[in-house]
Amino acid sequence: MRPFNHLNARSAAEAVELLRRPGAVAMAGGGDLLGAMKDDIFETYPTLVVNLKTIPGLSGVTVEGNALVIGAMTMLGDLSRDSLALQYAPALAAAAGMCASPALRENTTVGGNLCQLPRCWYFRKLNNRFDCARKGGETCFALNGDNRYHSVFGACTFSDKNGHKRACIAVNQGELAPVLAALDASVVTTERTIPVEAFFVADVMTATVLHPGELVTAVSIPLLPARRAVYKRFSFRKSIDFPVINLSVSVDADRHYRICFGGVAPLPHRALEAEALLDGKTLTPELCIAAGDAALKGGRPLEANAYKLQLMRTLLKRELEGMMET
Ligand SMILES: Cc1cc2nc3c(=O)[nH]c(=O)nc-3n(C[C@H](O)[C@H](O)[C@H](O)COP(=O)(O)OP(=O)(O)OC[C@H]3O[C@@H](n4cnc5c(N)ncnc54)[C@H](O)[C@@H]3O)c2cc1C
Ligand code: SF4
Repeated sequence: MRPFNHLNARSAAEAVELLRRPGAVAMAGGGDLLGAMKDDIFETYPTLVVNLKTIPGLSGVTVEGNALVIGAMTMLGDLSRDSLALQYAPALAAAAGMCASPALRENTTVGGNLCQLPRCWYFRKLNNRFDCARKGGETCFALNGDNRYHSVFGACTFSDKNGHKRACIAVNQGELAPVLAALDASVVTTERTIPVEAFFVADVMTATVLHPGELVTAVSIPLLPARRAVYKRFSFRKSIDFPVINLSVSVDADRHYRICFGGVAPLPHRALEAEALLDGKTLTPELCIAAGDAALKGGRPLEANAYKLQLMRTLLKRELEGMMET
């Protein structure tokens, strides 16, 4: 690791001020950031790490009016055991409890989970060996390289600093994003409230729409009576393994479904065709199969990742079968 300065922020306002300095980065649990710094994947190495853990009042789960509010600095382990989360958003608690490993869950946060950088192995290669499009370079090495964990629903496009159009096929594979999208949650920041589906982006060295110095302070989930939701992930190992694909489904009292996959597209991916097919209907075995097929519409697998479409179909069919009323 290279030398850097470290400052403890005592308030969100102070953190915002510090983060306006050139080379400053926010650190929550450090699980993603410190690994990236150790591996030296940044083109410009951070010179100031602003510790958010010293800011009081940014963690914990509360019910505020008609919403469940989760502080950005809530540790994933705490969220997985929290009584309000278990009562009002058990699918989110379950997702938090499956993330990474037990030790990591006790030290990494809700805000950090949403803001983490992509896990594409070219992007993460030690000592910044691949100057890929997501780092401001010209090429996406995964397009013609080993893309077995990449997107099956196309690329995200963005402009680099010279205005050239670039594309990235790295997936959004965080644990919490699909559940929060299925629950129609919003991300609360020091500047605004953003619907979770509008929070993510693929751009040079970022995975979110946050401005420089803008901090996530909480996520807010509307509480709907009689809404049910489930969460499922597929990974090769049981622990310390990112989901290859994860999925959350919610259904409200009027049988409106929200279905969101992670790990299949650069952003959390709503299966809108499957949602439309199920809308207002009581689940049957035939509908579960049809929804699994509908979720694949628009899928464009690359050379090495067609298996993800089969996984999507099977995961969704099984989760819907589990939600059938008996
Ligand atoms: C071995 C290993 C396995 C893992 N497995 C999984 C897994 O299976 N599923 C999964 O989803 N994740 C996994 N992770 C990621 C991990 O669970 C955390 O989500 C990750 O470490 C980020 O959380 P953090 O609190 O440590 O954030 P940090 O590492 O401190 O920050 C991550 C990024 O978010 C920014 N940031 C953090 N908090 C805020 C905020 N409040 N506002 C604005 N920006 C912010 C930081 O500047 C940084 O860019 C794994 C990590 C490791 C090291
Ligand atoms: S998928 Fe994205 S992060 Fe990976 S090499 Fe291509 S541009 Fe870089």
